[in-house]
Amino acid sequence: MWTLERLQEAFDQDAIDTVVAAAVDMQGRLMGKRFHAAHFLAHGWEETHCCDYLLTVDMEMTPVPGYAAAGWDKGYGDYLMKPDLATLRPLPWLAGTALVLCDLLHPVTHAEIAQSPRAILKRQVARARAMGFEAMMASELEFFVFDTPYDALRDAGPVQLRPVAGYNEDYHVFQTTKEEPLMRALRNGLHGAGIPVENTKGEAEAGQAEVNIRYADALRTADNHVITKTATKEIAHAQGKSVTFMAKYATDRAGSSSHVHQSLWGADGQPAFRDAAAPLGMSETMRRFLAGQLAHAREITLFLAPYVNSYKRFCPGLFAPTKAVWSVDNRTAGFRVCGAGTGGVRVECRIGGADLNPYLAFAALLAAGLAGIEQGLALEPAHSGDLYAATDAREVPATLREACEIAATSDWLRAALGDAVVDHYVHAARWEIAEADRAVTDWDLRRGFERA
Ligand code: ADP
Repeated sequence: MWTLERLQEAFDQDAIDTVVAAAVDMQGRLMGKRFHAAHFLAHGWEETHCCDYLLTVDMEMTPVPGYAAAGWDKGYGDYLMKPDLATLRPLPWLAGTALVLCDLLHPVTHAEIAQSPRAILKRQVARARAMGFEAMMASELEFFVFDTPYDALRDAGPVQLRPVAGYNEDYHVFQTTKEEPLMRALRNGLHGAGIPVENTKGEAEAGQAEVNIRYADALRTADNHVITKTATKEIAHAQGKSVTFMAKYATDRAGSSSHVHQSLWGADGQPAFRDAAAPLGMSETMRRFLAGQLAHAREITLFLAPYVNSYKRFCPGLFAPTKAVWSVDNRTAGFRVCGAGTGGVRVECRIGGADLNPYLAFAALLAAGLAGIEQGLALEPAHSGDLYAATDAREVPATLREACEIAATSDWLRAALGDAVVDHYVHAARWEIAEADRAVTDWDLRRGFERA
């Protein structure tokens, strides 16, 4: 990370002339402004402003009516964007550019905006700290790469999306060698931006890739996640390619996941999930944490799978789970215990897709795990075998409609995240459902045009 002094030095040496100051919206996108570095160093680093509609728009930037936070009835005023200088860094893949992430504050009281994703995660991190824990997380990100540039999608008529590969490239070295111009630039770019990239690899579908970032505290990992997504799009765009983080971009292809690895550490910096003497090396704290996530899995699915499309990923046989149960190193379960018997013993939640907002997903997972610890919940027995075939196991909600209504009526979720947060994101989901309900898709057309 850079300090303001380091930024000043880079500006003085003509290495940096632009600073992107960005907040994170409901969809997990970076939203902000590009500053001339001279102005950022003089004033911008203290604060800037944005229209408060940014937390009320859908993917299309439609200002959705009916939110308590902001609306036409309140005149759509400003939020204060407060740069979090601990996130200041160069972006080596953009010429002369640095980035800082911002928190969204009330312009007068300077209180954090309750519905802001970064604020929502910070509150759960603080809750964990008050209980003596640091939440460590990693989010693996899968995506598809296409030879088709983004702007081709604006052309009239159906666009032929051409994946960069012609075959399932899971762990393939030769196929991913062909993709190195993009993936090497991504790894090196992230490294230069202070993001501890571990590796990239081919994934289990033609043109699918995964990028892994080393685990860190939950807020830093969420920051790394959104910057990595943006970096992947920016570098692909510069190379005449496109990438998608949609949960499911084609009916007959596997979807893209964002598995979340989680562990708690004690104030002493030691893994609180480890008990060498216990079965699988899982401490009582870990068992309760996992029990909480299982108990509340259906209530938090809205934050792991936020769109109508997200639920199309949950199908048997494609490595996305359909059952919210736990298992030891079993990729058919929603919750997989990894690193059993080692210091790295952890819970991998496999429910979330690559379209999740990491701040909301981590906050919801953490809230559920901490509830399990607070209530001393007992862990149900592990499942084993092919859980797609299990008939007696807790189901992942099948649609956004189902997940949304479970969240809306959960007293626990309301107590854990606050009514303002739950109402806001339930409203967003209901809007998404209504928009999808009235959309006529290419599937409708192909199926019905001649034969209906
Ligand atoms: P795989 O063999 O499936 O790639 P890894 O050992 O590389 O698994 O770990 C997967 C992810 O889990 C990585 O992003 C890593 O940083 C993260 N991870 C490892 N240990 C922990 C831990 N104790 N807590 C949280 N995440 C962890």
